[in-house]
Amino acid sequence: MMEFNLFINGKNVSTTDYMDIVNPATDEIVGKCPIATEAHLNDAAAAANAAFKGWSETSDEERKNACHNLGAIINKNAEELAHLLTQEQGKPLNGLGSRFELGGAEGWTHYTADLELPVEVIQDTEEGRVELHRKPIGVVGSITPWNWPLMIAVWHIIPAIRSGNTVVLKPSPYTPLSTIRLIELLGSALPKGVLNVVTGTDDLGRMMSEHKDIHKIVFTGSCATGEKIMASAAPTLKRLTLELGGNDAGIVLGDVDAAAIAEGLFWGAFINGGQTCAALKRLYVHEDVYDDVCEHLTNFAKNIPMGNGLEEGSILGPIQNKMQYEKVKSLTDDAIAKGARVLMGADPVGGKGNFYPITLLADVTDGFAIVDQEQFGPVLPIIKYTDIEDVIRRANASENGLGGSVWSSDKAKAKAIASRLECGSVWINNHGAIQPNVPFGGVKSSGIGVEFGQEGLKEYTTIQALYC
Ligand code: NAD
Repeated sequence: MMEFNLFINGKNVSTTDYMDIVNPATDEIVGKCPIATEAHLNDAAAAANAAFKGWSETSDEERKNACHNLGAIINKNAEELAHLLTQEQGKPLNGLGSRFELGGAEGWTHYTADLELPVEVIQDTEEGRVELHRKPIGVVGSITPWNWPLMIAVWHIIPAIRSGNTVVLKPSPYTPLSTIRLIELLGSALPKGVLNVVTGTDDLGRMMSEHKDIHKIVFTGSCATGEKIMASAAPTLKRLTLELGGNDAGIVLGDVDAAAIAEGLFWGAFINGGQTCAALKRLYVHEDVYDDVCEHLTNFAKNIPMGNGLEEGSILGPIQNKMQYEKVKSLTDDAIAKGARVLMGADPVGGKGNFYPITLLADVTDGFAIVDQEQFGPVLPIIKYTDIEDVIRRANASENGLGGSVWSSDKAKAKAIASRLECGSVWINNHGAIQPNVPFGGVKSSGIGVEFGQEGLKEYTTIQALYC
C-alpha cells in the first residue's frame, strides 16, 4: 500500500489521520492520503509567505529557466505519474487519457515558461512618462478538481510561480495522490516554500479561501463550490480566478456531412468519459440530418473500448466516483422514463468499478434534466431542432457559458452563428480543443477570469502604475 505525505516548506510532512483512495476501475485501495489539519495549512501558508520575498525578487530569466526545468521533470517522471493518475482517476493510460494529460501538462509548462509580461509604456510625452509594471500577488491558493488533476494543477502552478508568486495547492479528495507526487517532484526543484501541497477534505478548501495569509485563490471546479469560495474569500478581499462548470451546447446545421463529423462530435462529448468542463453536453441537430447524425455517431461510438485504464487497449474508463456515477445514472433513467430513445448504452453491467457505458439518447428536448443540467459523464442527449433562431435561443438559455460549437460545411455561416453564442470559447466543426496560447474562461456562471496565454498570466499579478 502506497502512503503519501504532505509537502510543506521543502519537506514531506506526515499527519495523524489518513484516508483511503479508491481505484474507480476495481474498487481497490490505491493508497493512503494524508488529512491535513488547520495547523498544517497554517504551516504551508507561512512557508509560502516566507519564500515569497526571495522568489519574487528572482530575475525573470531565473523563473523562466526554473519553469522549463519543471517541464523537464514532468517529462522524466511522466510514466510514473500517468500510472498513478490512471489508478486513482480511472482514465486510461492511452487515448485522451493519462499519458495525454501528462503530455499536456508538460507542453503547457514550457509554453507558459516562455510568456513574458514586459513593462508597458502608457504615456511618454512632455507631460511625463507612465509605465505599467506587473507585480506578483503573494501566496496563491490553488484548489483543483478530480477530472484532470495534474493538467489543472499545472495550469494553476506554472503561471503563479512564473510571475513570482508562491503556491499552496489542495487537490480534490478523490484524486490527491498523483498531485502529491507531482508537487513533491516539482517542489524539490524549487527553493523551499515556493510550492506546497496540503490534502484532506473539502473543508480544507474553505479554510484556504478564508485564510488571511493567502492572497489569491485560483479554483477549478463546480459552480456551487465557486459560489462558496467567493463568499469565503470576501472578508479578505482575495483575488479570484474561478473556472467553473459548463453545459456546452453544440449546434449541427442541416448542411453537414454526418459521417465526416461523427468522430469530432464523439470526442467533443466523450473526452475523459464526458467528465470534462468544456465537453459537448447538449447536441442540437437540424431535422434534415438528425437521423444521419444519430446513426454515424452510434457507429463510431460502438468501436470505442472501455475498461480498466491500466490495460493498454482501453480508450475510455469508469466514472471517477460513485456519487457522480449515481448522478449520471439517475439523469439517464429520468430521461428514459420521460420518453428518450436509447441509441446505445444506458445498461450498466454492474460488478466492480464505476463503469457506465457510452450512452446516446435521442428524442430528448429542453426541460429534460439531462439537457438542462451538467451531466458530467459518458452520456450525450441529442435534440432535434427546426429553426436556427429558436436553437440559438435554447443554446443560450443556460446559466452556464463555458464553451459551445457550430458544425457546418459553410464556415462563414457557422461563424455568424458562433459569435451569437453566450460562452467564453466557441469552436467550428470541433469542440473543446484548448490551447496554452489562447485565453480560456467562462461567462455567466461558468466563471470569473481566464487562464492561459498572456491574459491568463496577468491574473497572477497586480498592476503598479509608475509615474516617472
Ligand atoms: P467540486 O467543486 O466538488 O470540487 C473541486 C474542489 O473544491 C475540490 O478540491 C474540493 O475539495 C474543493 N472544495 C469543495 N468544497 C469547498 C469549499 N467550500 N471551499 C473551497 N473548496 C472546496 O468539483 P469537482 O466535482 O471536483 O469537479 C467537477 C466540476 O468542475 C464540474 O462542474 C466541472 O465542469 C468543473 N470544472 C471546470 C473546469 C473549468 O476550467 N471551467 C475544468 C474542470 C472542471
